[in-house]
Amino acid sequence: MGGNLQVRLVRYPRGIPRRDDFDIVEAARPEPGPGEVLLRTLYLSLDPYVRTWMLAPDSHVPHNASLDLGDVVIGRGVSEVLESRRGDLAVGDVVVGETGWQAYSISDGSDLRPVREASTPSTALGVLGMPGFTGWAGLRFVGRPEPGNTVVVSAASGAVGSLVGQLARLQGCRAVGIAGAPEKCRFVEEELGFAACASHRSSTLGADLSRACPDGIDVYFDNVGGDVLAAVLPLLNPRARVVVCGRISLLNEQELPQGVDRSGVLLGSILTRRLTVQGFVWPDFADHFDEFLDEVTPLVAARQVRFREDVVEGLEQVPTAFGRLFEGSNFGKLVVHLADPEAGSLR
Ligand code: NAP
Repeated sequence: MGGNLQVRLVRYPRGIPRRDDFDIVEAARPEPGPGEVLLRTLYLSLDPYVRTWMLAPDSHVPHNASLDLGDVVIGRGVSEVLESRRGDLAVGDVVVGETGWQAYSISDGSDLRPVREASTPSTALGVLGMPGFTGWAGLRFVGRPEPGNTVVVSAASGAVGSLVGQLARLQGCRAVGIAGAPEKCRFVEEELGFAACASHRSSTLGADLSRACPDGIDVYFDNVGGDVLAAVLPLLNPRARVVVCGRISLLNEQELPQGVDRSGVLLGSILTRRLTVQGFVWPDFADHFDEFLDEVTPLVAARQVRFREDVVEGLEQVPTAFGRLFEGSNFGKLVVHLADPEAGSLR
């Protein structure tokens, strides 16, 4: 067994993260201490939120924490237990948790959960993992759609958005997506079964959405913010709910965007149409994770819920692949395949 290949942040990105913002180093393979396990990463998840950890500490954009230069980048992964000094985890178990962007990691077990599905462990990072859970919980607890409602979701072909629209459709709602490229819009309509999908690349997004939502919008699940939110705002019905889940269009800004101040329009809309606009962060609802799996796993197995993955081969690709999330050139949940289980047993 070789050393531990790691991706480290060496420069705070300006704009979309690029190859030179990262270094790939081979560190010594870590040794588990008492109560710990050694994990070998099988699949790594590339997620938009990781970009917020790469903001320079002096950034004026609101964010929680920053990595120090030289740190291994944070991230979730599916791993196989290679060595265990814990009674509840055995060699060969396949688990999902916070591995970081590296080939081997150590865990005390507190962040780990067994991967249930035998066939495709990568789904534990997508449709049956944190992004899927985000869509399910954000829709259920914040969006609260009722049959007959129109539910609009942005980044609709992606890991979160694709589940939001499909669940809304299964609940008897009119699901309308917003995506970028024409092939993504086609996928959203034809494969995922949304009633319509508008492209945010079109100069007529507002009019296109208006046509797609003849009865207005009752729930907007916002993954994007910025211009897309501005296009949705005039179409929101009285007492509509806005799930503020993500702001990917703004994640590469080092400073708050300059230009027309839209806060008056936003607050005016909230006031006159009695909107509920609520921030959503998935860990607040983590107690419901098993309920989510119990409900969505059979839907995926029966292909009532479809999903798409964009699989990149090898940790070496991570520094260039990560930026694709912000260019829209990923098509489906972006995961990196590092290895296959050696002695793997999924339970
Ligand atoms: P994803 O949709 O699989 O990939 C990101 C997509 O965002 C891109 O493919 C692109 O799709 C779209 N995008 C990127 N830049 C854009 C821009 N400037 N304007 C419009 N669209 C843009 O990613 P995901 O993992 O499902 O995440 C979706 C959102 O959910 C992100 O904002 C993420 O931060 C958020 N999220 C929040 C939580 C939470 O707990 N609050 C948890 C997980 C994820 P198009 O090509 O269609 O534009």
